[in-house]
Amino acid sequence: MSQSVIILGGGIIGLSCAYEAAKRNYKVTLIEPGRLGGQASGAAAGMLAPYSEQLEQPDAFFQLCRQSLLMYERWTQEIEQLSKHSVGLINCGSLYVCKHEADIQPLLTRLLWQNEWQAGMEQLEREELLQLEPQLSKDIVAGLYSPAESHVDAPQLVRALIACCQMLRVRLIEQAGAIEAVEQTDAGITVKYAAELKSIRAERLIVCSGAWTSLYESSFNLALPVHPIRGQICAYKNNAVTPAHLIFSAHAYWVMKTDGRLICGASEDVAGYNTETTEQGIGRLVRASENWLPALKRQKLYSSWAGLRPATKDGLPLIGPIDRTGRIIIAAGHYRNGILLSPVTALIAADLLDNHLSSSISPFHPARFTRAAI
Ligand SMILES: Cc1cc2nc3c(=O)[nH]c(=O)nc-3n(C[C@H](O)[C@H](O)[C@H](O)COP(=O)(O)OP(=O)(O)OC[C@H]3O[C@@H](n4cnc5c(N)ncnc54)[C@H](O)[C@@H]3O)c2cc1C
Repeated sequence: MSQSVIILGGGIIGLSCAYEAAKRNYKVTLIEPGRLGGQASGAAAGMLAPYSEQLEQPDAFFQLCRQSLLMYERWTQEIEQLSKHSVGLINCGSLYVCKHEADIQPLLTRLLWQNEWQAGMEQLEREELLQLEPQLSKDIVAGLYSPAESHVDAPQLVRALIACCQMLRVRLIEQAGAIEAVEQTDAGITVKYAAELKSIRAERLIVCSGAWTSLYESSFNLALPVHPIRGQICAYKNNAVTPAHLIFSAHAYWVMKTDGRLICGASEDVAGYNTETTEQGIGRLVRASENWLPALKRQKLYSSWAGLRPATKDGLPLIGPIDRTGRIIIAAGHYRNGILLSPVTALIAADLLDNHLSSSISPFHPARFTRAAI
């Protein structure tokens, strides 16, 4: 008989894990206190950009991001086929542009080490950049072209994953209210929710609760230092500026969506669990937009919103079992890259359910902060 699994949290990570576990015949129940995809996953720009996001070195995190990018096309094709929903994957490549000579050397250093990992990046001069993106500021001096980077529509991907989960008979409990307790006994793991009026028991548990993961520290007797970093983001909607590539600068990034929105993101600030936007946060993005894409000057914003990135103390996600029994797995803390990291995280979580993990995940072990404290 197939084992039962509870998944806590219905963002992109929880839904991806639910989908993968259901494909492997686990009996899956996903519990989401609020709306499925209603937090960080619904707010994201959807960039799949491991090269532009990882500026430092080819460490374990870079490898994880790269592995996930390589999985993305096939993974989303499968999701689109099953769900009959488009996820808006655009293989457009990216440009990382700079305005100061002093910024060129770090870009070239990055190009050198990333091309050792088949990034296929090229250095471009000002004229070449302006040919590719004529609406960029004439003040740019150089940039990098990264052909492998792409983007999806994160809310559409959430919707498609929900449909896939439904087709595979995942029980989705939305608007469940607060999770009151997680208890482990020999009989299994019991989750009590909605003021303890309801409870569900399963043999295994995957915790995918994003920026709320530290709430489980006492349940598991583990240090889980995940905290919310607010990201404010905005969109223009007009036909005046329509870049064909993802564009990154030192101050902001821009992503053109298929529905005609040009998204500009994103700020980073600490505001607890507050998801309101501020004049200061959005104002900074507007100034950056006018600076780097001058045709946006005096254009009215179409919309703005904010979400809470789940950041960890060391910047690495928490992916792995909490102890040797492997009954409880954590998959959280994906910070700026949770959309990118969904397929690989789901693969690892499902391999852990199968007790059959092929790759090393020790840098991401959820107990690493507890060990350090001992
Ligand atoms: C503005 C912005 C732009 C971003 N852009 C990108 C991007 O371009 N590319 C990229 O890869 N990433 C991006 N990210 C990051 C990405 O959105 C996150 O890393 C990702 O969504 C995390 O997914 P998650 O499922 O862990 O978290 P969430 O989507 O936040 O889901 C966690 C869920 O847990 C639920 N929950 C709350 N309390 C509990 C509880 N006690 N128990 C269980 N569940 C609970 C929440 O309601 C929520 O639905 C961006 C983030 C922001 C904010």
